[in-house]
Amino acid sequence: MTGKMKVNRFIEPLKMVYQEEDIPQIGANEVLIKVKATGICGSDVVYYYGETPLDTPDGKGPLILGHEFSGVVAELGEMAKNLGLFEIGDHVVVNPVQQCNACPACMRGEFNACSHVEVVGTMVDGAMAEYVKAKYTHVYKIPESIAFAHAAISEPLACATHAVDRLDIQPGQTVVIYGVGGIGLMMTQLCKAYGAGKVIVVARKDFGLGKALEGGADYVINNTDTSSSYYAENVAARVKELNGGELAQRAILATGAMQALQDAINVTGACSTIVYFGQAGPDDLLQVPVLDCLKAEKTLKFSWLAPLVWDKVFKLVDSGQVDLSKIITHEFSLEDAEKGIRFMRESAEPKVKGVIIVDPD
Ligand SMILES: [Zn+2]
Ligand SMILES: [Zn+2]
Repeated sequence: MTGKMKVNRFIEPLKMVYQEEDIPQIGANEVLIKVKATGICGSDVVYYYGETPLDTPDGKGPLILGHEFSGVVAELGEMAKNLGLFEIGDHVVVNPVQQCNACPACMRGEFNACSHVEVVGTMVDGAMAEYVKAKYTHVYKIPESIAFAHAAISEPLACATHAVDRLDIQPGQTVVIYGVGGIGLMMTQLCKAYGAGKVIVVARKDFGLGKALEGGADYVINNTDTSSSYYAENVAARVKELNGGELAQRAILATGAMQALQDAINVTGACSTIVYFGQAGPDDLLQVPVLDCLKAEKTLKFSWLAPLVWDKVFKLVDSGQVDLSKIITHEFSLEDAEKGIRFMRESAEPKVKGVIIVDPD
């Protein structure tokens, strides 16, 4: 397809430009997507402020950000067309982490460990634009009943789902979730959908804890704000109190805070499992009380990206088991994408997840 499109391109830290560019040309194995909505990820915010390098060869822009998005098929490359899987106008989302399928990790199906990935929105141009292209192997058709704004955040939901899969919840178990950002609130709903008995959410701010209660949390604990009615100085003691005198069997981290990971070791009991899903810094270290963990036979796992969960994610959303309308708190236009990113960092207003509505029609 030829023609012009509007984009909001990241140039360098603290600088984006809203401008007109050529619509991307697609290859035989690619699909052109007319973007409907694009989520603002925490990683977009740290890229914008220059706190983390991009995945481009030199780690720098210019690059169109946006790796969480939904849209409709606008044009099909030859291979994608011959396959017969897609038609123009189909509602789709993209798995932005496009693995190579040929390296040893990919041979084993460990797609999140592929070292030859091409990532839309962090390595190649993403979806803070009217059009974006992706490999047909990573374009997924979704039910039309899912709203585009919700579909746009199926990528973080996919990551949250993979993490909850790794938590291996058994029906009735008590789960402690740390963090009430978009991922923590998604995990709250997921843990209930997976059959957790009690879900206890721990965080620093009452606004997010209120959201967690709306999303199905049984109890919330504020571990920081002494003026909160949910405040508890000793989280482990409070968990015991809420859990019939026992520590929790599962804990999951939707925050990068090392203190929370340290705390998760304290709130979990014998034969428990802890999953860490957070944005750790390069110098973060964990201190593990080895003898206690050994005798309790605890399991600590890490969770990275979202391999092999996408079909489950669309079914969880389509069935209503996960309600993403509870997660999105702010919407921005494509023209205001930069304003939106700055808002997510700088505004004191309570917020969870911002979405750029690229095409409201
Ligand atoms: Zn993201
Ligand atoms: Zn690979």
